[in-house]
Amino acid sequence: MWKSVIILSVTSLAAVELIYYSIHWLIKQKAQHSNWLLNWKDPASTSTRTCSSTSSSTSTRTCSSTSSSTSSTGTTTSGSASASGTASAMYKVLIFPDESVVCKNHLSGSCHNKQCRFSHDRTALGDLIEVIRGTKKTIDVCVFTISCRDLAQELVNLHENGVVVRIITDGESINAMGSQIGTFRSAGIQVRHNRSSFFMHHKFVLIDNAVVINGSFNWTMQAVTGNHENLLITNNMNICNPYEEEFTKLWALYAPINLTN
Ligand SMILES: [Zn+2]
Repeated sequence: MWKSVIILSVTSLAAVELIYYSIHWLIKQKAQHSNWLLNWKDPASTSTRTCSSTSSSTSTRTCSSTSSSTSSTGTTTSGSASASGTASAMYKVLIFPDESVVCKNHLSGSCHNKQCRFSHDRTALGDLIEVIRGTKKTIDVCVFTISCRDLAQELVNLHENGVVVRIITDGESINAMGSQIGTFRSAGIQVRHNRSSFFMHHKFVLIDNAVVINGSFNWTMQAVTGNHENLLITNNMNICNPYEEEFTKLWALYAPINLTN
Protein backbone atom coordinates (compact mmCIF):
# COMPACT_ATOMS: atom_id res chain seq x y z
CA MET A 1 0.00 0.00 0.00
CA TRP A 2 2.58 2.59 1.14
CA LYS A 3 4.93 1.45 -1.59
CA SER A 4 2.27 2.19 -4.20
CA VAL A 5 1.60 5.62 -2.70
CA ILE A 6 5.31 6.50 -2.74
CA ILE A 7 5.74 5.32 -6.33
CA LEU A 8 2.66 7.29 -7.37
CA SER A 9 3.92 10.42 -5.62
CA VAL A 10 7.37 10.22 -7.18
CA THR A 11 5.85 9.64 -10.61
CA SER A 12 3.51 12.62 -10.19
CA LEU A 13 6.35 14.88 -9.06
CA ALA A 14 8.46 13.82 -12.03
CA ALA A 15 5.57 14.54 -14.38
CA VAL A 16 4.99 17.99 -12.88
CA GLU A 17 8.70 18.75 -13.14
CA LEU A 18 8.76 17.60 -16.75
CA ILE A 19 5.82 19.83 -17.64
CA TYR A 20 7.41 22.80 -15.84
CA TYR A 21 10.72 22.48 -17.67
CA SER A 22 8.95 21.89 -21.00
CA ILE A 23 6.96 25.11 -20.62
CA HIS A 24 10.10 26.95 -19.50
CA TRP A 25 11.98 25.66 -22.54
CA LEU A 26 9.19 26.67 -24.90
CA ILE A 27 9.04 30.19 -23.47
CA LYS A 28 12.82 30.49 -23.77
CA GLN A 29 12.76 29.29 -27.39
CA LYS A 30 10.04 31.77 -28.27
CA ALA A 31 11.94 34.60 -26.61
CA GLN A 32 15.12 33.77 -28.49
CA HIS A 33 13.24 33.43 -31.74
CA SER A 34 11.73 36.86 -31.66
CA ASN A 35 14.48 38.66 -29.77
CA TRP A 36 15.93 40.53 -32.72
CA LEU A 37 12.48 41.68 -33.71
CA LEU A 38 11.86 43.52 -30.48
CA ASN A 39 13.83 46.47 -31.77
CA TRP A 40 11.75 46.62 -34.93
CA LYS A 41 8.41 47.13 -33.30
CA ASP A 42 8.49 50.87 -33.32
CA PRO A 43 11.47 52.18 -35.28
CA ALA A 44 9.77 55.53 -35.79
CA SER A 45 9.89 56.21 -32.07
CA THR A 46 13.66 55.94 -31.94
CA SER A 47 14.60 57.85 -35.03
CA THR A 48 13.64 61.00 -36.80
CA ARG A 49 14.48 62.23 -40.23
CA THR A 50 14.36 65.28 -42.40
CA CYS A 51 14.38 65.05 -46.15
CA SER A 52 14.51 67.35 -49.11
CA SER A 53 14.24 66.46 -52.77
CA THR A 54 16.72 68.12 -55.06
CA SER A 55 14.58 67.71 -58.14
CA SER A 56 11.22 66.23 -58.99
CA SER A 57 12.66 64.72 -62.16
CA THR A 58 15.20 62.59 -60.35
CA SER A 59 15.11 60.26 -57.41
CA THR A 60 17.88 62.12 -55.63
CA ARG A 61 16.83 62.86 -52.08
CA THR A 62 18.87 64.14 -49.19
CA CYS A 63 18.00 62.94 -45.72
CA SER A 64 19.48 63.15 -42.30
CA SER A 65 18.51 61.01 -39.37
CA THR A 66 19.06 61.00 -35.67
CA SER A 67 18.47 58.04 -33.46
CA SER A 68 18.55 57.13 -29.82
CA SER A 69 18.76 53.44 -30.59
CA THR A 70 22.10 51.70 -30.98
CA SER A 71 21.02 48.19 -30.15
CA SER A 72 22.25 45.16 -31.98
CA THR A 73 20.84 41.67 -32.10
CA GLY A 74 24.23 40.01 -31.89
CA THR A 75 23.55 37.45 -34.58
CA THR A 76 25.68 36.90 -37.64
CA THR A 77 23.04 38.14 -40.02
CA SER A 78 21.75 41.21 -38.27
CA GLY A 79 22.92 44.15 -36.28
CA SER A 80 23.23 47.91 -36.37
CA ALA A 81 25.00 50.21 -38.74
CA SER A 82 25.73 53.87 -39.05
CA ALA A 83 25.03 55.37 -42.46
CA SER A 84 27.20 58.36 -43.33
CA GLY A 85 27.65 59.14 -39.69
CA THR A 86 23.94 59.71 -39.14
CA ALA A 87 21.48 57.10 -37.97
CA SER A 88 22.15 53.85 -36.24
CA ALA A 89 19.81 51.47 -37.99
CA MET A 90 18.81 47.88 -37.61
CA TYR A 91 19.33 45.42 -40.41
CA LYS A 92 18.98 41.74 -41.08
CA VAL A 93 19.79 39.51 -44.03
CA LEU A 94 17.65 36.47 -44.80
CA ILE A 95 19.03 33.74 -47.01
CA PHE A 96 16.84 31.18 -48.78
CA PRO A 97 16.12 28.35 -49.44
CA ASP A 98 14.82 27.02 -46.15
CA GLU A 99 15.39 23.33 -45.55
CA SER A 100 11.75 22.92 -44.61
CA VAL A 101 8.58 24.97 -44.35
CA VAL A 102 8.09 26.78 -41.07
CA CYS A 103 5.07 26.01 -38.86
CA LYS A 104 2.93 29.17 -38.75
CA ASN A 105 1.16 27.99 -35.62
CA HIS A 106 4.50 27.52 -33.90
CA LEU A 107 5.36 31.14 -34.68
CA SER A 108 2.21 32.09 -32.80
CA GLY A 109 3.10 29.67 -30.01
CA SER A 110 -0.02 27.66 -30.69
CA CYS A 111 1.22 24.43 -32.25
CA HIS A 112 0.79 21.49 -29.90
CA ASN A 113 1.11 18.78 -32.52
CA LYS A 114 4.02 16.52 -31.61
CA GLN A 115 3.81 14.99 -35.07
CA CYS A 116 3.80 18.39 -36.78
CA ARG A 117 5.24 18.02 -40.25
CA PHE A 118 6.34 21.65 -40.42
CA SER A 119 9.55 23.08 -39.00
CA HIS A 120 9.67 24.40 -35.44
CA ASP A 121 13.21 25.66 -36.02
CA ARG A 122 14.15 29.17 -36.98
CA THR A 123 13.82 29.72 -40.73
CA ALA A 124 14.11 32.63 -43.13
CA LEU A 125 10.40 32.44 -43.96
CA GLY A 126 9.59 32.41 -40.25
CA ASP A 127 11.67 35.55 -39.71
CA LEU A 128 10.01 37.23 -42.68
CA ILE A 129 6.54 36.34 -41.40
CA GLU A 130 7.37 37.72 -37.95
CA VAL A 131 8.45 41.03 -39.46
CA ILE A 132 5.25 41.18 -41.51
CA ARG A 133 3.16 40.35 -38.44
CA GLY A 134 4.78 43.29 -36.67
CA THR A 135 3.06 45.75 -39.05
CA LYS A 136 1.04 48.33 -37.16
CA LYS A 137 -0.64 50.56 -39.74
CA THR A 138 0.45 50.10 -43.34
CA ILE A 139 2.18 47.57 -45.52
CA ASP A 140 3.03 48.27 -49.16
CA VAL A 141 3.98 45.18 -51.14
CA CYS A 142 5.65 45.63 -54.54
CA VAL A 143 6.53 42.12 -55.68
CA PHE A 144 6.75 40.63 -59.16
CA THR A 145 5.17 37.25 -58.40
CA ILE A 146 2.95 36.37 -55.42
CA SER A 147 1.83 32.76 -55.24
CA CYS A 148 2.95 31.74 -51.74
CA ARG A 149 -0.25 31.04 -49.80
CA ASP A 150 1.40 31.40 -46.41
CA LEU A 151 2.60 34.92 -47.12
CA ALA A 152 -0.66 35.85 -48.84
CA GLN A 153 -2.60 34.73 -45.77
CA GLU A 154 -0.44 36.97 -43.59
CA LEU A 155 -1.52 39.97 -45.68
CA VAL A 156 -5.18 38.95 -45.52
CA ASN A 157 -4.87 38.64 -41.74
CA LEU A 158 -3.36 42.11 -41.49
CA HIS A 159 -6.11 43.54 -43.69
CA GLU A 160 -8.78 41.94 -41.51
CA ASN A 161 -7.10 43.44 -38.45
CA GLY A 162 -7.32 46.97 -39.84
CA VAL A 163 -3.89 47.36 -41.42
CA VAL A 164 -3.90 49.20 -44.76
CA VAL A 165 -2.53 46.71 -47.28
CA ARG A 166 -1.57 47.87 -50.78
CA ILE A 167 -0.15 45.55 -53.40
CA ILE A 168 1.61 46.25 -56.68
CA THR A 169 2.51 43.30 -58.88
CA ASP A 170 3.29 42.43 -62.47
CA GLY A 171 0.35 42.31 -64.86
CA GLU A 172 1.37 39.05 -66.50
CA SER A 173 2.16 37.22 -63.27
CA ILE A 174 -1.43 37.80 -62.12
CA ASN A 175 -2.48 35.00 -64.45
CA ALA A 176 0.34 32.68 -63.43
CA MET A 177 -0.58 29.37 -61.82
CA GLY A 178 -1.18 29.73 -58.09
CA SER A 179 -1.30 33.53 -58.17
CA GLN A 180 -2.82 34.90 -54.96
CA ILE A 181 -4.08 38.14 -56.50
CA GLY A 182 -7.61 36.75 -56.68
CA THR A 183 -7.42 35.95 -52.97
CA PHE A 184 -6.40 39.52 -52.19
CA ARG A 185 -9.15 41.06 -54.29
CA SER A 186 -11.77 38.76 -52.78
CA ALA A 187 -10.63 39.90 -49.36
CA GLY A 188 -11.00 43.56 -50.38
CA ILE A 189 -7.28 44.32 -50.61
CA GLN A 190 -6.25 46.87 -53.24
CA VAL A 191 -4.04 45.47 -55.98
CA ARG A 192 -2.56 47.43 -58.86
CA HIS A 193 -0.38 46.27 -61.76
CA ASN A 194 1.37 47.39 -64.92
CA ARG A 195 0.19 46.71 -68.44
CA SER A 196 3.52 47.27 -70.08
CA SER A 197 5.36 44.66 -72.11
CA PHE A 198 8.16 45.19 -69.62
CA PHE A 199 8.08 43.58 -66.20
CA MET A 200 7.17 45.19 -62.91
CA HIS A 201 10.15 43.33 -61.54
CA HIS A 202 10.57 44.80 -58.05
CA LYS A 203 10.56 42.63 -54.94
CA PHE A 204 10.29 45.01 -52.04
CA VAL A 205 7.98 45.64 -49.11
CA LEU A 206 7.54 48.74 -46.95
CA ILE A 207 6.21 48.34 -43.44
CA ASP A 208 4.75 51.39 -41.68
CA ASN A 209 6.94 53.48 -44.02
CA ALA A 210 9.76 52.68 -41.62
CA VAL A 211 11.11 49.25 -42.55
CA VAL A 212 12.01 48.06 -46.03
CA ILE A 213 12.45 44.45 -47.14
CA ASN A 214 14.21 44.04 -50.47
CA GLY A 215 16.08 41.40 -52.42
CA SER A 216 15.74 38.71 -55.05
CA PHE A 217 12.93 36.93 -53.25
CA ASN A 218 9.63 36.51 -55.08
CA TRP A 219 6.71 35.41 -52.92
CA THR A 220 6.63 31.83 -54.22
CA MET A 221 7.12 28.49 -52.49
CA GLN A 222 9.86 27.74 -55.00
CA ALA A 223 11.73 30.75 -53.64
CA VAL A 224 11.16 29.61 -50.05
CA THR A 225 12.38 26.02 -50.32
CA GLY A 226 14.11 25.76 -53.69
CA ASN A 227 15.89 28.81 -55.04
CA HIS A 228 18.94 30.61 -53.74
CA GLU A 229 17.45 33.95 -52.73
CA ASN A 230 18.22 36.83 -50.39
CA LEU A 231 16.41 39.59 -48.54
CA LEU A 232 17.81 42.59 -46.73
CA ILE A 233 15.56 44.05 -44.04
CA THR A 234 16.39 47.43 -42.59
CA ASN A 235 14.85 50.43 -40.89
CA ASN A 236 17.56 52.74 -42.17
CA MET A 237 15.55 55.73 -43.34
CA ASN A 238 18.10 56.66 -45.97
CA ILE A 239 17.42 53.31 -47.60
CA CYS A 240 13.66 53.29 -46.97
CA ASN A 241 13.07 56.67 -48.62
CA PRO A 242 13.74 55.76 -52.28
CA TYR A 243 11.52 52.68 -51.95
CA GLU A 244 8.75 54.77 -50.44
CA GLU A 245 9.02 57.20 -53.34
CA GLU A 246 9.03 54.39 -55.90
CA PHE A 247 5.94 52.78 -54.40
CA THR A 248 4.09 56.11 -54.33
CA LYS A 249 5.04 56.74 -57.95
CA LEU A 250 3.96 53.31 -59.21
CA TRP A 251 0.76 53.32 -57.14
CA ALA A 252 -0.30 56.49 -58.93
CA LEU A 253 0.96 55.31 -62.31
CA TYR A 254 -0.99 52.04 -62.08
CA ALA A 255 -4.21 53.61 -60.84
CA PRO A 256 -7.14 52.09 -62.80
CA ILE A 257 -7.93 55.44 -64.41
CA ASN A 258 -4.44 55.57 -65.91
CA LEU A 259 -4.60 52.01 -67.18
CA THR A 260 -7.66 52.72 -69.32
CA ASN A 261 -5.88 55.46 -71.25
ZN1 LIG B 1 3.82 22.84 -35.72
